[in-house]
Amino acid sequence: MKVEQTLSIIKPNAVSDNNIGNIIARFEQEGLRVAALKMVNLSKEKAEGFYIEHRERPFFGSLVSFMTSGPVMLMVLEGERAVDRNREIMGATNPADAEEGTLRKLYAKSLEANAVHGSDSLTSADREVSYFFEKSDVTDRF
Ligand code: AMP
Repeated sequence: MKVEQTLSIIKPNAVSDNNIGNIIARFEQEGLRVAALKMVNLSKEKAEGFYIEHRERPFFGSLVSFMTSGPVMLMVLEGERAVDRNREIMGATNPADAEEGTLRKLYAKSLEANAVHGSDSLTSADREVSYFFEKSDVTDRF
């Protein structure tokens, strides 16, 4: 099975609720390795660029405001089927639809403040990882 890398973001609501450790612990328990990690305050420009595919959607402005409202944790997760497994662990985008035990069921406040982001495909993962991390920031397994 091919080892993949995917981008995970712990969003401002989960950071301010002190759930960083709980969320990272869950990824590690599921066998995903944290290959890179940094905590940042996103600028408006950086958040807009990240969500550029949603720029015409009615929630775009609000989403950018939310993502710049406090620090976020940016992570590269690595493992077999990492893209899909991260999405399974996160649960549905809308926490009202998320299954029991998923990160969004546990830690989301709303559709917008849904605790975590995860890349939705390998193509997105490549773009999103390189949007936030230099190649040299991403560690190798030892
Ligand atoms: P995605 O690119 O799938 O991660 O979607 C971007 C993010 O936009 C989601 O994770 C939600 O936080 C937010 N979002 C998606 N749909 C809506 C919506 N209808 N109203 C408000 N926020 C939304």
